Amino acid sequence: MLKSGDDSGRLRLGLVPTMGYLHEGHLSLVERARESCDLVVVSIFVNPLQFGPTEDFERYPRDLERDLSLLRGAKVDCVFNPTAEDVYGNGHRPGTHVVPPQWLIERLCGEFRPGHFEGVATVVAKLFNIVQPNIAYFGEKDYQQLLVIKHMVKDLNMNLNIQGVPIVRESDGLAMSSRNVYLSEAGRKKAPIIHEVLSEVKSAVQRKASVQEAIAKGKQKLIDNGFEVQYLELCRADTLEPANDGEKPVVILVAAKLDKVRLIDNMIVS
Ligand code: AMP
Repeated sequence: MLKSGDDSGRLRLGLVPTMGYLHEGHLSLVERARESCDLVVVSIFVNPLQFGPTEDFERYPRDLERDLSLLRGAKVDCVFNPTAEDVYGNGHRPGTHVVPPQWLIERLCGEFRPGHFEGVATVVAKLFNIVQPNIAYFGEKDYQQLLVIKHMVKDLNMNLNIQGVPIVRESDGLAMSSRNVYLSEAGRKKAPIIHEVLSEVKSAVQRKASVQEAIAKGKQKLIDNGFEVQYLELCRADTLEPANDGEKPVVILVAAKLDKVRLIDNMIVS
């Protein structure tokens, strides 16, 4: 039975873009979409354009049968699983790219993954044009990505709403991610330290203690436990500029490699 749709009587279409190898984080986006949309489309596409030449495009985990069975269980109406040729044509490269604002992508993940956010924005713009959703759902897990998409929609006057969805974590605090499967047994045990460090910095922000000290301690804790830290920073939640003391809302963002697996996470302090 379909829900009522919007005032015009048209059905409300929700899109959840993913790269597959689904977990409960993805399914929470689907759940949110099902709550407010009549029809839910999930796209599964490992987008070559957003991976750098030395990154893990080839070895990114894939299991379409398992994904489809999870999505059937989640009562998704349609799965869009295009090939690179479907999306980009013969050469697998688009002629036109979407370039997000430089100030937003020159820092944090953008600094360590040149070209990544152009690749994300370009494929998401294409997915929006193909699927034509009314609402698209993105996880706060990829906080910088969520801001990139929100800016793209606003700056290019795209006619849809973007809904952010909170991070889903394992019971030990590790943010769910398709890449967690590549952690060694020992790495998997250490990975929740990322969440511990975020919580410690958050507590320093809330206690109005020295945030720089908490960040330095957090970085050292990660390094002592075998992480290769790319960044651990306190930023303004709206622009991702470095936050000043006492400023709110802020977000603490981290990227670190463990077992050569790149893990990202964040925590908002509102
Ligand atoms: P991915 O397949 O990793 O590209 O993720 C697809 C979407 O799911 C993105 O909007 C992610 O931010 C979101 N997502 C991934 N992991 C989580 C998580 N642990 N909690 C909430 N959303 C997530």
